Amino acid sequence: MANKTSSSNPTIAAYKRAVEILGMKPNIAKALEMPDRELTVEVPFKMDNGEVNSVVGYRVQHNNTRGPFKGGIRYHQHVDIEEVRALATLMTWKTSLVDIPYGGGKGGIAINPNDFSKDELERISRKFFRSIDPIIGPNKDIPAPDVNTNAQVMSWFMDEYSKSHGYTPAIVTGKPIELGGSLGREEATGRGTAIITKESAKKWNINLDKAEVVIQGFGNVGSYAAKFLNEYGCKIIAVSDVSGGLYDPNGLDIESLFDFNKKHRTIDGFKGGKKISNEELLGLKCDFLIPAALGSAINSDNVHSIKCKVIIEAANGPVTGGAADVLWKNKIAIIPDILTNAGGVTVSYFEWVQNLQQFKWTEEDVNNKLQDKMIRAFDDVYSVKVDKKIPMRIASFMVAIDRVYQSYMLREG
Ligand code: NAD
Repeated sequence: MANKTSSSNPTIAAYKRAVEILGMKPNIAKALEMPDRELTVEVPFKMDNGEVNSVVGYRVQHNNTRGPFKGGIRYHQHVDIEEVRALATLMTWKTSLVDIPYGGGKGGIAINPNDFSKDELERISRKFFRSIDPIIGPNKDIPAPDVNTNAQVMSWFMDEYSKSHGYTPAIVTGKPIELGGSLGREEATGRGTAIITKESAKKWNINLDKAEVVIQGFGNVGSYAAKFLNEYGCKIIAVSDVSGGLYDPNGLDIESLFDFNKKHRTIDGFKGGKKISNEELLGLKCDFLIPAALGSAINSDNVHSIKCKVIIEAANGPVTGGAADVLWKNKIAIIPDILTNAGGVTVSYFEWVQNLQQFKWTEEDVNNKLQDKMIRAFDDVYSVKVDKKIPMRIASFMVAIDRVYQSYMLREG
């Protein structure tokens, strides 16, 4: 799911407000906003029919003040340098917010992967990785999966890099377990989302046992968030995917729905709950509304129908800047994406650490360490929010930017 403007707009506004409150000098604020390096590569490859073809790829390295650049590589026809730049920037703030020793990067290839065979995708992936080889490395820049890339693509990347540099699993994260992937990575973003929801419940005086939860999107993030929140005792009253939504005011049978969705890759056809549209779902009265599908899902057209107490932004940029202003006035809290969905990159970091150590952690170890990181980040943000009387998004950016700023001044000053 590429969501061009949604990833950048609220981010730019939050950045501006945060540097203003931090009292940062304009020249430093500008320097930290600007990417360190942008690489555009032409990637020639052979089609299955023997013809030579060529695609365009990008790697943007935004900032490595606190550690190597880190961020995914997506394959999508709408990928362009502006989108990759915005997403790379967001990674700098996200990795800083959860206090992992990384900077921010992002990459992509402007293709619709459905237009190519698996063999062609392999050749494109290997050629692209060779093209960006001069600027990546396990201590320089560590890519990961993103939209339309997966553990198989990471295996090709790792194999290609290892051919010229020796066996190097730490060059990418999101690998299959057999090649050094981490236990707990698949569930990490949904688990992190559930942990953040639990922490929010404490601060917004919502009894988690009785909390009513609505989730838009039942893919990797939404389905695992539903599973863990269900285990915490929440009542998941509605969920949806691209096919539409299901609603049961007494709570859906999440265990069965999770298994059904794993098997059929859709919630369509599940026996349970009343069918509703995605728009109806967003307007349901509930404690937590968790958009976990699309960018800009909550926008100026539907913001006035929102009746939840807290929005937990599991997707990237699901609430537009304009809608966020209305929600702030209506006293509906938003827990921002850079905090909520940082569980994925946090366990990616754990994968990299395990690879560097050539050691494997247990799943319990990974989950406990993830929980510690998420709770600490939530508490850091919440105390700034209370202290400055500002929304959680601005507080998140303040915490994240200040950490990068302090390191930058120590290194450059
Ligand atoms: P996914 O492709 O696994 O699932 C997406 C889900 O959204 C599917 O259930 C799909 O049917 C549903 N959907 C698509 N269009 C919809 C629509 N119009 N209305 C309602 N539902 C719709 O994706 P994912 O990995 O779960 O990612 C979801 C979001 O979280 C994205 O914004 C992604 O960028 C963000 N995110 C994911 C991760 C991760 O680790 N997977 C990490 C950080 C951020």
